[in-house]
Amino acid sequence: MKSPLLAVLACATLGAQPKIIDAHVHHNGDAAFLEKLVQRLEAADALAFLLTAPKDLDSVQSFIAKHPRRLVGFGSIRLDDPNAVALVDRFHAAGFRGLGEISGPLRNFDDKAYSPIYERAEQHGMIVLFHTGVVNRPNPNVSTDVSVDRMRVTLLDNIARRYPKLTLIGAHLGNPDYAWAAEIGRWNPNLYFDLSGSTLIKKQEDYTFFKSIFWWSGVVSPHTPKSAVSAFEKTIFGSDVFGGDLAEFDGALDRYHKMLDACGVSLVAQAKIFSGTLWKILQGPRK
Ligand SMILES: [Zn+2]
Repeated sequence: MKSPLLAVLACATLGAQPKIIDAHVHHNGDAAFLEKLVQRLEAADALAFLLTAPKDLDSVQSFIAKHPRRLVGFGSIRLDDPNAVALVDRFHAAGFRGLGEISGPLRNFDDKAYSPIYERAEQHGMIVLFHTGVVNRPNPNVSTDVSVDRMRVTLLDNIARRYPKLTLIGAHLGNPDYAWAAEIGRWNPNLYFDLSGSTLIKKQEDYTFFKSIFWWSGVVSPHTPKSAVSAFEKTIFGSDVFGGDLAEFDGALDRYHKMLDACGVSLVAQAKIFSGTLWKILQGPRK
C-alpha cells in the first residue's frame, strides 16, 4: 500500500521541529477535548501522538488535517480484533503514523498469532506504542480477561528483533520491571520507552534511582553497544493524558524535568528525549 502523495504531504505539513513531542495522548472521543488539547499544544509548541479508537477515525482524520503541526494520529486497534490488519491499512491510508496504545491482549504480545499485524505495521513504516507492566482495573465488579503477564515488557524484545524496521515504544517503562525495560532497550535500537503513569510519582523521593537503570552512558566495553550518547536517550516524552485530563500533560512534563535534572542528564540529551528522537523518526519513510 504505497501512497507517495500522502507521504509527501505528511512530511511537508509537519513543518519545523516542535519543542515537545508527547507520544502518549488518549483521545476520549469528545470534540471539545480536541480543541482544548490543540490550544495547550500550541502554547507549549508541542506535537502529540493522538491515540484514536477506530470509531473516531474519520472525525480525527479531519481534525488533524486542520492542525497538522500539532497532532499525529495513532490507531488504537486491538490485537485480537479479527479485522486488525484491515484496520491497520485504514489508519495508514488516513495518514496515521502509528498504532496504539496496544493493551489487553488475549495472548502474549509476542505471540506469532499477531505477526500479520506487526508485519503490516512494519511495511507501512509505523510506530507502535505498547502498554507495558501493571494496568488499572477500572470496573472491579465486571469480569475481564486481562492479564499483566501478557504485557510484560520483556515480550517486546522478540518483536523488536523480528521486525527491525518497526519502531516500538513501551509505555510506562514496564512498571515495575524497569531494569528489564532498560536492558532490552540497550540492545534494541528500535525500542524506546515513555515514563508516563505512576512511576515518576512512586520514585519522586528517589529520582537518582534511574541512574542505576540507565547506567551505561559513556561506558566502553565489549558488553555494551558502541555509542557515545546518554543511556537516558532510550526514553522519550509521554504524558498518558486520558479521560480528557489535560493537567497530566503539565504534571508529566514537570516530573520528567525533575528526574532528568536530578540524574544530571545533559540538555542536549534532554532535547532529544523531549522532541529530537521522535522528530527524527517521523522524518523517516512513511510507506
Ligand atoms: Zn498504558
